[in-house]
Amino acid sequence: MKKETATRSSENKKARSTDAGKRKKDSEPEKVQNKENHVEEGEEDAVIEESIFTMPGDMIGTTEEFRAGNGTYVNVADIHSLGTGYVNIDRKSRTISVSPRTNTPPNINEGDIVVGSIVNMRDSVALVEIAAIKGKGEREFQTNGAAAIHVSNVKDSYVKNLGQEFSLLDIVKAKVINTQNMRLSTDGGPFGVMKAYCSRCRSVLQTEDNKLKCPECGRIEKRKLSSDYGTGLV
Ligand code: ZN
Repeated sequence: MKKETATRSSENKKARSTDAGKRKKDSEPEKVQNKENHVEEGEEDAVIEESIFTMPGDMIGTTEEFRAGNGTYVNVADIHSLGTGYVNIDRKSRTISVSPRTNTPPNINEGDIVVGSIVNMRDSVALVEIAAIKGKGEREFQTNGAAAIHVSNVKDSYVKNLGQEFSLLDIVKAKVINTQNMRLSTDGGPFGVMKAYCSRCRSVLQTEDNKLKCPECGRIEKRKLSSDYGTGLV
């Protein structure tokens, strides 16, 4: 039994690599070279369609074409990248996913100003995937895993509910206060949410007084806002 399974699996692999070989000829060779570096364990089936580099929020496909896999989120019928990485398309399951950039040494120092997206919200911590470091460009930054904003580092006043300060997929600007366990702070005027999405309809929220308003559905939301909200300034 075991032998048979093994044989079958190696046949599958052969079929796949032949397929990949065909594709290699069709596509530009230099693009395919990135493949090995970015396929992670347990993702043997994933095929890097092209080495498309994506940033948080980039649209990478539609739900008509693909199923949304790891590292993605769906907004209406569009599939977006959750973080920074390379796009994978598994043709068999028609799944599109994003594998994070790896193998790049962290290049982040205390005091650095970073921009990233909120990828996870817990009771006392918001997790941020860093997309860029101020003054260091977008290509050298990548960390493995997320940085954390603890509830005590959001602002100088007491924060009761972290959900009133950040929300999933928000783009935030923060200062690195600890590189050992990657802690960030958003205390201070320029720091906080730079771009936020309506939790009901996913439109980009606009500032109105000190609150955020959805131009589509009228919903009002609160955040720890950066004074640069909506400007894209890092
Ligand atoms: Zn809305």
